[in-house]
Amino acid sequence: MTDEIARPRPRPDAVSEGFWNAVGQGVLAIQRCTQCGNYQHPPRPVCCGCGGGELSYERVSGDATLVSWTTTHHNVVPAMAGALPFTCLVVELAEQRGLYMMSDLIGRTSLAGALRLGMPMRVVFPEPEADNPRLPQFAPAPEAVR
Ligand SMILES: [Zn+2]
Repeated sequence: MTDEIARPRPRPDAVSEGFWNAVGQGVLAIQRCTQCGNYQHPPRPVCCGCGGGELSYERVSGDATLVSWTTTHHNVVPAMAGALPFTCLVVELAEQRGLYMMSDLIGRTSLAGALRLGMPMRVVFPEPEADNPRLPQFAPAPEAVR
């Protein structure tokens, strides 16, 4: 259990609102180019693969691989002081090489000891504490922690 924290709130715009609308429904949807099929995250106004401007949001599996993580003991965001120490991690989504997302284990610190490089991870949408926004996070896949 963490002391009360106040996460920065997402500010969806015309480019990112598809991602945040899906998150609000507990769905992970990633921006994808309708011309070349490239996924990209975070959302951008044009495709990083071909420069095309026809982008949509596509539901993805939520399966990923753990690429890296770090535990923060020195806080630089005052509203997060109650969460110290907290672990942030980077995963590569299963849909495409180099398609990375960041996550944290705030409120789920007991999972930090189970992390292993390259382990299977899966998206989760924990119920937010207090008035915090709902965010997609990643946790070790059940088959990875047997
Ligand atoms: Zn493209």
